[in-house]
Amino acid sequence: MTAVVFDVGETLVDEALAGTQVFTDAHLHPDALPCIEALRARGLRIGAAGNMRAVHEEFLRPHVDFVGSSQRWGVEKPSPDFFARVIEEAGRPAGEIAYVGDRVDNDVLPALAAGMTAVHVRRGAWRHQEPPLEAIRLRSLAELPEALP
Ligand SMILES: [Mg+2]
Repeated sequence: MTAVVFDVGETLVDEALAGTQVFTDAHLHPDALPCIEALRARGLRIGAAGNMRAVHEEFLRPHVDFVGSSQRWGVEKPSPDFFARVIEEAGRPAGEIAYVGDRVDNDVLPALAAGMTAVHVRRGAWRHQEPPLEAIRLRSLAELPEALP
Protein backbone atom coordinates (compact mmCIF):
# COMPACT_ATOMS: atom_id res chain seq x y z
CA MET A 1 0.00 0.00 0.00
CA THR A 2 1.43 3.37 -0.97
CA ALA A 3 -1.71 5.53 -0.90
CA VAL A 4 -4.87 5.78 1.18
CA VAL A 5 -7.94 7.72 0.02
CA PHE A 6 -10.80 8.51 2.37
CA ASP A 7 -14.46 9.03 1.65
CA VAL A 8 -15.54 12.20 3.49
CA GLY A 9 -19.16 12.01 4.72
CA GLU A 10 -19.33 9.84 7.85
CA THR A 11 -15.86 8.40 7.20
CA LEU A 12 -13.97 11.55 8.20
CA VAL A 13 -16.84 13.93 8.99
CA ASP A 14 -19.56 13.25 11.55
CA GLU A 15 -22.59 14.01 9.38
CA ALA A 16 -24.94 14.27 12.35
CA LEU A 17 -22.71 16.99 13.79
CA ALA A 18 -22.16 18.82 10.50
CA GLY A 19 -25.77 18.82 9.37
CA THR A 20 -26.08 21.20 6.42
CA GLN A 21 -23.11 23.41 7.42
CA VAL A 22 -19.96 23.74 5.33
CA PHE A 23 -17.57 21.16 6.80
CA THR A 24 -14.82 22.32 9.17
CA ASP A 25 -12.29 20.60 11.43
CA ALA A 26 -14.86 20.81 14.23
CA HIS A 27 -17.02 18.32 12.31
CA LEU A 28 -14.33 15.64 12.00
CA HIS A 29 -14.70 12.37 13.88
CA PRO A 30 -12.12 12.36 16.71
CA ASP A 31 -10.26 9.42 15.10
CA ALA A 32 -9.86 11.13 11.68
CA LEU A 33 -6.81 13.40 12.09
CA PRO A 34 -4.80 10.99 14.29
CA CYS A 35 -5.32 8.29 11.66
CA ILE A 36 -4.27 10.59 8.80
CA GLU A 37 -1.19 11.68 10.76
CA ALA A 38 -0.18 8.09 11.50
CA LEU A 39 -0.46 7.17 7.82
CA ARG A 40 1.44 10.25 6.68
CA ALA A 41 4.21 9.40 9.13
CA ARG A 42 4.58 6.12 7.23
CA GLY A 43 5.14 8.05 4.03
CA LEU A 44 1.82 7.12 2.44
CA ARG A 45 0.15 9.49 -0.04
CA ILE A 46 -3.20 10.54 1.40
CA GLY A 47 -6.36 11.73 -0.35
CA ALA A 48 -9.94 12.57 0.56
CA ALA A 49 -12.65 12.30 -2.10
CA GLY A 50 -16.39 11.93 -1.81
CA ASN A 51 -19.80 12.72 -3.14
CA MET A 52 -20.14 16.28 -1.92
CA ARG A 53 -20.25 19.93 -2.91
CA ALA A 54 -16.93 21.51 -3.84
CA VAL A 55 -17.21 23.96 -0.93
CA HIS A 56 -16.52 21.08 1.48
CA GLU A 57 -13.07 20.51 -0.04
CA GLU A 58 -11.32 23.52 1.50
CA PHE A 59 -10.97 22.47 5.13
CA LEU A 60 -9.41 19.17 4.08
CA ARG A 61 -6.56 20.62 2.00
CA PRO A 62 -4.14 21.22 4.90
CA HIS A 63 -4.58 17.63 6.09
CA VAL A 64 -4.11 15.57 2.91
CA ASP A 65 -2.17 15.49 -0.37
CA PHE A 66 -5.24 15.80 -2.59
CA VAL A 67 -8.96 16.42 -2.26
CA GLY A 68 -11.80 15.66 -4.64
CA SER A 69 -15.53 16.27 -4.74
CA SER A 70 -18.16 14.84 -7.03
CA GLN A 71 -19.28 18.40 -7.82
CA ARG A 72 -15.86 19.59 -9.03
CA TRP A 73 -14.97 16.33 -10.74
CA GLY A 74 -18.38 16.02 -12.42
CA VAL A 75 -18.70 12.34 -11.53
CA GLU A 76 -20.37 10.64 -8.57
CA LYS A 77 -19.87 7.43 -6.67
CA PRO A 78 -20.54 4.64 -7.35
CA SER A 79 -19.56 5.43 -10.98
CA PRO A 80 -16.35 3.70 -12.11
CA ASP A 81 -15.33 7.11 -13.50
CA PHE A 82 -15.17 8.49 -9.96
CA PHE A 83 -12.77 5.74 -8.90
CA ALA A 84 -10.71 6.15 -12.07
CA ARG A 85 -10.26 9.79 -11.03
CA VAL A 86 -9.26 8.72 -7.51
CA ILE A 87 -6.56 6.48 -9.02
CA GLU A 88 -5.39 9.26 -11.33
CA GLU A 89 -5.13 11.78 -8.48
CA ALA A 90 -3.39 9.25 -6.23
CA GLY A 91 -0.82 8.76 -8.97
CA ARG A 92 -0.30 5.13 -7.97
CA PRO A 93 -1.40 1.81 -9.43
CA ALA A 94 -4.87 0.76 -8.22
CA GLY A 95 -3.38 -2.22 -6.41
CA GLU A 96 -1.35 0.12 -4.20
CA ILE A 97 -4.34 2.23 -3.11
CA ALA A 98 -6.76 1.65 -0.24
CA TYR A 99 -10.14 3.42 -0.40
CA VAL A 100 -11.80 3.87 2.98
CA GLY A 101 -15.55 4.39 3.28
CA ASP A 102 -18.66 3.83 5.37
CA ARG A 103 -20.88 2.56 2.55
CA VAL A 104 -20.71 -0.87 0.98
CA ASP A 105 -22.68 0.14 -2.12
CA ASN A 106 -20.96 3.46 -2.81
CA ASP A 107 -17.46 2.88 -1.45
CA VAL A 108 -16.47 -0.75 -0.87
CA LEU A 109 -17.90 -2.49 -3.92
CA PRO A 110 -16.83 0.08 -6.55
CA ALA A 111 -13.36 0.39 -4.98
CA LEU A 112 -12.90 -3.38 -5.24
CA ALA A 113 -14.20 -3.32 -8.82
CA ALA A 114 -11.58 -0.68 -9.64
CA GLY A 115 -8.83 -2.95 -8.32
CA MET A 116 -8.22 -1.11 -5.08
CA THR A 117 -8.12 -2.45 -1.54
CA ALA A 118 -11.44 -1.59 0.12
CA VAL A 119 -11.72 -0.62 3.76
CA HIS A 120 -15.13 -0.45 5.44
CA VAL A 121 -15.58 1.60 8.58
CA ARG A 122 -18.79 0.62 10.31
CA ARG A 123 -20.53 3.74 11.59
CA GLY A 124 -23.32 6.18 10.90
CA ALA A 125 -26.57 5.55 9.11
CA TRP A 126 -25.11 2.81 6.86
CA ARG A 127 -23.47 0.78 9.66
CA HIS A 128 -25.76 -2.19 9.10
CA GLN A 129 -24.51 -2.80 5.55
CA GLU A 130 -22.46 -5.99 5.45
CA PRO A 131 -19.20 -5.69 3.50
CA PRO A 132 -17.85 -8.56 1.39
CA LEU A 133 -15.11 -10.76 2.82
CA GLU A 134 -12.44 -9.09 0.67
CA ALA A 135 -12.94 -5.80 2.50
CA ILE A 136 -10.89 -4.78 5.51
CA ARG A 137 -13.41 -4.16 8.29
CA LEU A 138 -12.98 -1.48 10.95
CA ARG A 139 -15.08 -0.13 13.78
CA SER A 140 -12.98 3.02 13.97
CA LEU A 141 -10.25 4.71 11.94
CA ALA A 142 -7.97 4.17 14.95
CA GLU A 143 -7.73 0.55 13.74
CA LEU A 144 -6.64 1.49 10.21
CA PRO A 145 -2.86 1.91 10.58
CA GLU A 146 -2.52 -1.63 11.96
CA ALA A 147 -5.07 -3.15 9.60
CA LEU A 148 -3.40 -2.02 6.36
CA PRO A 149 -1.32 -4.68 4.63
MG1 LIG B 1 -19.61 8.32 3.41
